[in-house]
Amino acid sequence: MSVQVVSAATAAKVPEVELKDLSPSEAELQLALNTAAVGAMGPPAGGGDPEAPAPAAERPPAPGPGSGPAAALSPAAGKVPQASAMKRSDPHHHHQRHRDGGEALVSHDGTVTEAPRTVKKQIQFADQKQEFNKRPTKIGRRSLSRSISQSSTDSYSSAASYTDSSDDETSPRDKQQKNSKGSSDFCVKNIKQAEFGRREIEIAEQEMPALMALRKRAQGEKPLAGAKIVGCTHITAQTAVLMETLGALGAQCRWAACNIYSTLNEVAAALAESGFPVFAWKGESEDDFWWCIDRCVNVEGWQPNMILDDGGDLTHWIYKKYPNMFKKIKGIVEESVTGVHRLYQLSKAGKLCVPAMNVNDSVTKQKFDNLYCCRESILDGLKRTTDMMFGGKQVVVCGYGEVGKGCCAALKAMGSIVYVTEIDPICALQACMDGFRLVKLNEVIRQVDIVITCTGNKNVVTREHLDRMKNSCIVCNMGHSNTEIDVASLRTPELTWERVRSQVDHVIWPDGKRIVLLAEGRLLNLSCSTVPTFVLSITATTQALALIELYNAPEGRYKQDVYLLPKKMDEYVASLHLPTFDAHLTELTDEQAKYLGLNKNGPFKPNYYRY
Ligand code: NAD
Repeated sequence: MSVQVVSAATAAKVPEVELKDLSPSEAELQLALNTAAVGAMGPPAGGGDPEAPAPAAERPPAPGPGSGPAAALSPAAGKVPQASAMKRSDPHHHHQRHRDGGEALVSHDGTVTEAPRTVKKQIQFADQKQEFNKRPTKIGRRSLSRSISQSSTDSYSSAASYTDSSDDETSPRDKQQKNSKGSSDFCVKNIKQAEFGRREIEIAEQEMPALMALRKRAQGEKPLAGAKIVGCTHITAQTAVLMETLGALGAQCRWAACNIYSTLNEVAAALAESGFPVFAWKGESEDDFWWCIDRCVNVEGWQPNMILDDGGDLTHWIYKKYPNMFKKIKGIVEESVTGVHRLYQLSKAGKLCVPAMNVNDSVTKQKFDNLYCCRESILDGLKRTTDMMFGGKQVVVCGYGEVGKGCCAALKAMGSIVYVTEIDPICALQACMDGFRLVKLNEVIRQVDIVITCTGNKNVVTREHLDRMKNSCIVCNMGHSNTEIDVASLRTPELTWERVRSQVDHVIWPDGKRIVLLAEGRLLNLSCSTVPTFVLSITATTQALALIELYNAPEGRYKQDVYLLPKKMDEYVASLHLPTFDAHLTELTDEQAKYLGLNKNGPFKPNYYRY
């Protein structure tokens, strides 16, 4: 593997990317190897190729909790290599927060039960007519915005750090703007901010070595030539690096934001300036949100043939408004828990009409986003909001899954005394063996300085706990939804709320005791800090490879189902990031490869391997 220097600043070396490695023919070759390798390592009951695609109906349940894809043998097993179709096989039920505040409970087998909705306002998928001309008033915009403020948070892009110094209150929809080449095919807050955005993108590029490596290779090959990608993601510097990489690989892109608050206006301007039709700004109303999506897909003389979605809104918009477009669409790549969940629902109902890639459940996303992202950002979020010192502080972390493990590791390293609560004996035992005291929340609630929830559950911290906390105790949440801390129970007449900083409230009891509530119980790191670009790089690279794979797949390789990326591609994503650390991977000898029954180039683990 040869290396090349990507940036003088980081002196990070990246491997030469063999884009043709990802081409179907190479991939096909790989399948035989996959099959042999996996077989040798002992496949789940039934044997065969766990990576072969199988229609949903043929799939057995996951081999076990926490395992990888639950792909089963298909009649075609052994023929082609590709992503494995799978049902959700998360080891735990996941409460998924919808835009409207309602929840869905996803059980082991992927069954979804709707929980009662708690918030009335919701985005209407317009079976009802969207009347974009009916513009909301400013107040209307704000209140509508509120109703979708928690949307699409499950991809954990940083939505917190963006500042917009512009006082301009004019809606971007009312402005006539052109970029320097005369194009007005975009709608951003202020095209004049493009230079600032460009700097942000350049900074992000330093920490996204794999995408930069893909670009270098793309100088010769254009694996996305002819691809017309419509995207709906957070519009941040990191997404911009992804978008510009897709452009370098040959794709045409049109983009909208998946979250009304997370757009970095300067970055959107920079993208528009360099010719990307971007329709997004920070603080969109609900009406703006759908208008922007519509402007991406409803274009004279241009039809998308690929979808990159984060949250499923774009996909659903096309389903509802332009179902005929699916005739030309080759596939959907979806990144978020919520969007993936929606795809599985479509698949289950037999309504999924193109293949889809579930990027959310890729090992490279799950393991790195949840564990490492939180390990880095928990301290950042706490520090920015409270300026606290961590050394010697007593902290209780509720939940010792990936997120909890990351939080505990960071706090322990800072000298905090960390307690853990768990309901699952396996995670509990892990916590014990990692050196943490496993307790019930009640046992430590009076003494701790910080309470952090990371369970994905609800009412983990109740009013009773909050009543018993000591003065100045900090309470925050790192889980997906704002249900983990019973914040609503604090809205009672005897308690006084004082906003002391942005995202910091003091809740004061009649006797003068106060607790420090961060981000009103919403995700701390998303609300109050940034998340590491390098982690986002891993996810973005996975998205790019998923697009390449779906776009280049020969007819029939992928059916109308939801697939995971092949493990070899996960390994490839990881290998593209190794040179940053000047890491030197050991290569199997022929003898060793034979002994283990592996191909020397991977995949190195069966799909059920847990890492
Ligand atoms: P996980 O399922 O691996 O871990 C959650 C743990 O909480 C499990 O071990 C479970 O047994 C435990 N748990 C459940 N109920 C509990 C209770 N009442 N008391 C104590 N423990 C309990 O999930 P994860 O990957 O660690 O993610 C946790 C949450 O964080 C999810 O909501 C996820 O969507 C979210 N998340 C946040 C970020 C972020 O950047 N903040 C990143 C990824 C995921």
